[in-house]
Amino acid sequence: MTYPLIIIGAGIIGSALAEACAHRGLHPTVLEAGIPSGGTTAAGMGHLVVLDDNPAEMALSRDGLQRWRARRGSLPTEVEYRECGTLWLARDGAELEEAERKALRYQAEGLPCRLLNARELAATEPNLTTTLAGALQVPGEAVIYPPVAGRYLLDHAITLGATLLPGTRAVSVEESGAVWLDDGRCLLAERIVIAAGCASTALLPGLPLAPRKGQLLITDRYPAYVRHQLVELGYLHSAHSSDADSVAFNVQPRATGQLLIGSSRQYHDTSSQIDWALLQRMLQRAFDYLPGLHALQGLRAWCGVRPATPDKLPLLGRAPGHERVWLATGHEGLGITTALASAELLASLLADERPTLDPTPFDPARFAARSTVPAPVKAEAS
Ligand SMILES: Cc1cc2nc3c(=O)[nH]c(=O)nc-3n(C[C@H](O)[C@H](O)[C@H](O)COP(=O)(O)OP(=O)(O)OC[C@H]3O[C@@H](n4cnc5c(N)ncnc54)[C@H](O)[C@@H]3O)c2cc1C
Repeated sequence: MTYPLIIIGAGIIGSALAEACAHRGLHPTVLEAGIPSGGTTAAGMGHLVVLDDNPAEMALSRDGLQRWRARRGSLPTEVEYRECGTLWLARDGAELEEAERKALRYQAEGLPCRLLNARELAATEPNLTTTLAGALQVPGEAVIYPPVAGRYLLDHAITLGATLLPGTRAVSVEESGAVWLDDGRCLLAERIVIAAGCASTALLPGLPLAPRKGQLLITDRYPAYVRHQLVELGYLHSAHSSDADSVAFNVQPRATGQLLIGSSRQYHDTSSQIDWALLQRMLQRAFDYLPGLHALQGLRAWCGVRPATPDKLPLLGRAPGHERVWLATGHEGLGITTALASAELLASLLADERPTLDPTPFDPARFAARSTVPAPVKAEAS
């Protein structure tokens, strides 16, 4: 038997892709080695946010947000979709100017937002430090609970005709369409999509992908302690800084009344252990913005690894040098937001449709000159 389409990995990206492909009658079969959406997706924060560092990032995140918003009425309660909006916080006049520039970029794209002065900000979020200069409020942004959202997309894909092969680990793929499994079996597919997050490099060595670790801490329940997702304007600098370990203030009100506190970025430590010194830096940053936070009860801290490409844009399209092997990975810190947009884009390409977004900035071929074209040989399970 030859499978029409095998998707390797059932994180939020593979699950959203399976849904979009099943919707088009492409009959995807999803291989998942662990728990669906139990990898990076389960470690993520679930902020649905438009980032505007470059036009491609803005287009993909905006499309992703719009697609989540369009589905808000049909998402199960457990997905915890809440349109709390984002406040981008400005510490001083310079950051306020940045907030103004950001407002112009958002407004040019038709994204509603408004500038708050210090007094309006204090009235909106009374637990913030009173030393802030103001904020940019983006009301249409939202939060969801990523592992449940991912599982929901996968279940929906199955109702549309997708098949899940649980507990199935791929160890290598070949241009012939062969997918070798860790139990020695070989599945044949007309096309293969690697959506294995950070583990994608094990299947296609040489991919321009590196794990970028992040840590989060969740508190006990303090309903309405903050009402918006709060992010410092310096966050983008942290998210896009190339190499150094960094922290940025990022706090989210969960549907449970808990506060989810982020965030950190690290390339060099990819262990699954908490880096306590970095966590302390992250919390200190949070206390600077929310001084009362130190008196609240923290419950649990965890970490996860973001699959990061050198330009922080995902890899969506044919793997360089391959006809049958495709990629849906590299979503760094935006994969929850962009899952539905990436899925639509790639499913359109797989179905020979014209995608609504320009696929060029996400084409894996953009790195082809820099990366080794992987040799299609069978490897051992890692
Ligand atoms: C701390 C942190 C905070 C974040 N916050 C946000 C946020 O607020 N907003 C946002 O938009 N994004 C956020 N992200 C980013 C987001 O979580 C990721 O971009 C997204 O989850 C990536 O999904 P994925 O499906 O590519 O990877 P994964 O979720 O890792 O899924 C890959 C799947 O593939 C499976 N797999 C791997 N290898 C194999 C194999 N060989 N065979 C079969 N199956 C395999 C794995 O078991 C896994 O289930 C955050 C990430 C982190 C770490």
